[in-house]
Amino acid sequence: MKMPRTSRAAVVPEPNAPLVIKEFEIPELRPGAALLKVANGGVCGTDVHLWHGKLAGVPYPLILGHEAVGRIEAIGDREIRDLDGNVLTLGDRVAFHDVHDTCYACWNCLIAKAPTKCTNRKVYGITMDSTKWPYLIGGHSEYMYLLPGTHIIKIPDNVSFDGAAAVGCALPTAVHTVHRSPLGWGKNVVVQGAGPVGLMIGMLAKINGAATITMIDQAPNRLEMTKKFGATHTLNIRETTLEERKQELLDITGGHGPDIVYEATGSALAIPEGIELVREGGAYTICGQYTDSGTVEINPHLMNRKHLDIRTVWGSETTHVYQAVKTIAQNYDRFPFESLVTHRFTLDEAQKALETQESHASLKAVISPHGKQ
Ligand SMILES: [Zn+2]
Ligand SMILES: [Zn+2]
Repeated sequence: MKMPRTSRAAVVPEPNAPLVIKEFEIPELRPGAALLKVANGGVCGTDVHLWHGKLAGVPYPLILGHEAVGRIEAIGDREIRDLDGNVLTLGDRVAFHDVHDTCYACWNCLIAKAPTKCTNRKVYGITMDSTKWPYLIGGHSEYMYLLPGTHIIKIPDNVSFDGAAAVGCALPTAVHTVHRSPLGWGKNVVVQGAGPVGLMIGMLAKINGAATITMIDQAPNRLEMTKKFGATHTLNIRETTLEERKQELLDITGGHGPDIVYEATGSALAIPEGIELVREGGAYTICGQYTDSGTVEINPHLMNRKHLDIRTVWGSETTHVYQAVKTIAQNYDRFPFESLVTHRFTLDEAQKALETQESHASLKAVISPHGKQ
């Protein structure tokens, strides 16, 4: 297979600026590197926030896209293997962990045992610099340069590229989030936010045997979808008041309130509500504040008086990506994973893709630079 020489990519020149399509030369592959022919570059809520400059330490101009899947187009001068030890060959369908170079040697990795806070980690499409080698570091591009040491995993044969849409980000985040919570059989669970992450948390609650799963959102299309992924109840914040939601949850849970509330909204306003909704002695697990959506007023006395376990979640580890791929493959007939992709765009429509994701019209928009694969 002859390696392509150039790749077009969608570039965010600076925060809030219109996207531009730029052509890059594809650098020669170093030993251990691979070139990914992007099938789907997922558009994430985080991409919208990054477009608006809401995360510190992000280098612009930026090629967005931290959740890409595709085929191995070329491999550098050394054998590479995936996370299961399979030797990768040209044409293999793969996903990869967007976090690169977690060192397992810095203080945060080694002593604090918090590898998602590794001070040496870099994230494709978020903190990597598109002005420096190897340039093609985001998934909103025809091709991506996967650096040596990137954690790649083959997509199982029974899973399509669309079916793997949750692998890049939403499901690993959800896996990490539920690991940080006391989720188990018989629990009454609430999920604030029915975007891809919240949807996947609800699904994992179902797989783990939760008794009730109530999804809260403002988008009817998103709430409708959650019923196909295990939700037992839905509440629309545009149609109910906080008091009504509290009462509804008391009714659903036999008068006690939910054991666990998960936050996956991207809105600061969700936090005081989550503290209101969770039962006394319950758990509140927060993962949706990855980018800065401002400050809110909270009454700490309420938190203290309710005797809560409040935890937050930052990023994901490779094990969560691995578990995400396996979970999808094992439950492919049980949940409609392919229906997560509600909108598909060409590379030239990258800006429209971001705008669609921002409007919540889509559940998951993808950019398919080579058409549907
Ligand atoms: Zn480290
Ligand atoms: Zn994401």
